[in-house]
Amino acid sequence: MRLSIAVKRMPVTLVRAGVNGPPRISHSFEVTFKYRPMIRLILGDITSLTVDAVVNAANTSLLGGGGVDGAIHRVAGPELLEACKKVGGCPTGEARITPGFRLPSKWVIHTVGPVWRGGEHDEAMLLESCYRQSFEVALANGVRSIAFPGISTGVYGYPKPAAAGIALTVMEGYNERFDEIVCCCFSEQDIEVYQAIQDGHDDE
Ligand code: ADP
Repeated sequence: MRLSIAVKRMPVTLVRAGVNGPPRISHSFEVTFKYRPMIRLILGDITSLTVDAVVNAANTSLLGGGGVDGAIHRVAGPELLEACKKVGGCPTGEARITPGFRLPSKWVIHTVGPVWRGGEHDEAMLLESCYRQSFEVALANGVRSIAFPGISTGVYGYPKPAAAGIALTVMEGYNERFDEIVCCCFSEQDIEVYQAIQDGHDDE
């Protein structure tokens, strides 16, 4: 059976926050999977989301990097780096939690995705573990709403459709234990990747 999805669309515009600032998305649209009310797709900057916890695609040092990690540290402020230093790193496939400091979210859950090396180096198992461990850390800290970026799909090079398939599969297993699970997409193309997977599930 094919189920419909409710789409709320607003104009999406990329604007520069400042001369040296990152591009910010000033508007976002949301796609809600009607039959999975807890899983939502949001197009936008994860640092602007008001959820209990945002997940950070970090590196093993937890000492900051580019991409979503850089964005989260910029908005959370220098206290986040200090908190990460105290945590003392995180192995690939695991997750650690810190406060969100100046972010709208109370917590940041830092997880370290695998670097894509062709698919024969446990990448899928490690990426699945990132999602699972992030959820477990969230549950242990009373988190009811959580937003994920596409872990490993930036500089770590994980193919986006395969990564989105893993993300949605793990999310489905946890959706009854959360009020809201958000896939935060950073481009309209990324939204389409998640939607295509969901459409594929509908056709099964
Ligand atoms: P990784 O090293 O795990 O690949 P990246 O930060 O390079 O992490 O990218 C992970 C994903 O996060 C990519 O799909 C990228 O487009 C996305 N991304 C980057 N900045 C943001 C942001 N501010 N909000 C949401 N997603 C983001």
